[in-house]
Amino acid sequence: MIDSKWKITTLKMGELYVEKSSLTYQKDVGEYLWIPIWSTALEGNGVNILIDTGIHDLEWVNKHIGVCRQLEDETIIKALEEGVGWGPEDVDIVINTHLHYDHCGNNNLFKNARFVVQKKEWAASHNPIPCQESIYFKELFDSSAVNYLNWRFVDGEEEIVPGVKVFLTTGHSEGHQSVIVDTEEGSVCVAGDIANLLCNIQENIPAGIVTSTKEMYEGMEEVRKRGKFIIPGHDYTIKKYQNNNFPIINK
Ligand SMILES: [Zn+2]
Ligand SMILES: [Zn+2]
Repeated sequence: MIDSKWKITTLKMGELYVEKSSLTYQKDVGEYLWIPIWSTALEGNGVNILIDTGIHDLEWVNKHIGVCRQLEDETIIKALEEGVGWGPEDVDIVINTHLHYDHCGNNNLFKNARFVVQKKEWAASHNPIPCQESIYFKELFDSSAVNYLNWRFVDGEEEIVPGVKVFLTTGHSEGHQSVIVDTEEGSVCVAGDIANLLCNIQENIPAGIVTSTKEMYEGMEEVRKRGKFIIPGHDYTIKKYQNNNFPIINK
């Protein structure tokens, strides 16, 4: 009998300095804050899964995107070593919630991994809507980063391995997916940017970066249906290397 309970560890990939309304649809204009970038490691049955791979280079983000900072243990190599004791070669599966620069920046490091992304996101990343052209960088996910044959393109809800399922939560990007993970405490949704912050899901406020506001509401509803706990993509109440006691979705 396969034990489908997974151990989760959050990995912090630095922090971005943003205007809050970019996270809370047309609310909190003029308010600025530092937000973490989360990657998440899953361990179970001898399989190592990494959800999202952070930013690849601090200077690059500061130049191309905006103000960003990163402590020494917040690079993917250091965080994996310290948080779960893995080297990049130990990662079996990478799940990209979506292909914005802060979620796939280090894809090129995982040479032994299969990469999971939604078909729709793959298409969108090669032909983004104009307002998102600046946050997709092809070299982070094209064949110079990941051998095309190592991608697994999924279409909607799919079980990746027992106890780890992906499902579409579009609206922040055209093919965004979230991950539902079985743990000893119950189901944990690694949400990606369908919920940047906890308040998005708890107060039903869409993120500020959207391809469809309506789909964002629908995506958040799908998260509420499936998850008991949540790890939002950029929430500041989550701790580095957190393993349990994640925030409850329906407070
Ligand atoms: Zn995003
Ligand atoms: Zn993000």
